[in-house]
Amino acid sequence: MSSLFEKKLKKVRYPNVMMRYFNNNDYFDTKATTKKIEQFHLDSIREISKKAYKDNEFYRNKMDQAGIHPNQIKTLEDLQRLPLLTKDELRGKPYILLTCEKEDIALVQVSTGTTGGEEIYMMYTWNDYYLHDLAPRYPKLFPVDPGDVCLNGLPYEMSAAGLAFHKTFMEGCQATVIPAGKGGAYSTPKKTLKMIRDLQPNVVITSPSWAMLLAEEAEEQEFDLQSLQLKNLWLTGEGCSPAFRERLERIWGTTANFFYGSLECGVLGIECDDHDGYHLAQAHAIVEIIDPETGEVLEEGDIGEIVVTSTLRYDTPIIRFRTGDLGYIDKTPCSCGVTLPKFYLRGRVADQIRYKGTTLSPFYLEEFLMRQQEVGNWFEFVVNEDSDNEVIRVRCELANGVRPSKELAEQLSSKMEFSTGIPFTFEFVKQLPRPQGKTRRVVTE
Ligand SMILES: [Zn+2]
Repeated sequence: MSSLFEKKLKKVRYPNVMMRYFNNNDYFDTKATTKKIEQFHLDSIREISKKAYKDNEFYRNKMDQAGIHPNQIKTLEDLQRLPLLTKDELRGKPYILLTCEKEDIALVQVSTGTTGGEEIYMMYTWNDYYLHDLAPRYPKLFPVDPGDVCLNGLPYEMSAAGLAFHKTFMEGCQATVIPAGKGGAYSTPKKTLKMIRDLQPNVVITSPSWAMLLAEEAEEQEFDLQSLQLKNLWLTGEGCSPAFRERLERIWGTTANFFYGSLECGVLGIECDDHDGYHLAQAHAIVEIIDPETGEVLEEGDIGEIVVTSTLRYDTPIIRFRTGDLGYIDKTPCSCGVTLPKFYLRGRVADQIRYKGTTLSPFYLEEFLMRQQEVGNWFEFVVNEDSDNEVIRVRCELANGVRPSKELAEQLSSKMEFSTGIPFTFEFVKQLPRPQGKTRRVVTE
């Protein structure tokens, strides 16, 4: 063992707050009371903001400008007095969040940049990335155990997702992980399916469109995915409609649940089998909903921007980070028995389709489209970028054995208009290009 490694190991120690709360690793899943979680949140924010004020000039200046000192934080409501953190403040400034020495940084992740602008770099010390992040678990929501074989079909390169689940499966759950990747130089659907056939995973995580791509490859190779008898198919990285999810569940022969997180914040929400909202990952994050215009914190049930404070990041603190995602919180108890409150995502304004002066979610339209048996698994909505759309144009493949015809296009148009009240036109293509990175369901022409 090298002396440097020994030196690093000696520094491994949980912060005081975590020592008090994580003596039982399924604590937050089923047993924690709201009061205890709130106490953990308050203790964490006090300790983390103190460290940020002491060791980080950027945070210190922000807090001074807002007229708040960490010592003044006495209740959880006082969190609202801390200044908000925006993506623009982080763009192009790799080291801005550090409260540690630069040499202590173990990992740098970069934003995949779907919203444009300069890169956002997220830095982690070994302590934050491994020790702290893996301390709490949600075994009831994310049941992965030693002995499980997990196919990780998320991107490892230029994305935080692949590595994050890799460490969760391998170190967190002590399961077996297969780093298949997604869309990288070597991670073709063909090769991934070969690994699935050879290694018979019982847990799979990937994006909805990649799960469909693997299903297509399986069909081509005449391999029955249902024979895997998966515990779960986990989906993340992009959304999909309930009807698209149901198609995946039928093909893969298992429940498909969503996981929500981001490069900047890590895990934020995990869906239970009810498929109705995400349970908040409250051991990892404090989530607030704010009015995007005024920055005021909104009441439970009101839709606003999701703001995140990480409870486990001490060396590169994330305090009141504006995610740009819209959603709302509902504290009504869930029938699954998990006590963590739930939140519901309401997408991004930028991804909406404009139609006659209003905006529509592509998932809303996809939901009706995927209920049409004649329609295949690959489709896109073709829209005008600069003006309102009078009709919604659908370009799609047809299901196996269905022949394209003008009559079918008319039939589908009228069925879609009957369900949604919106006029549609259909264009059938033999094959749409398959996605390499994120799937785009809305294309401009
Ligand atoms: Zn639930």
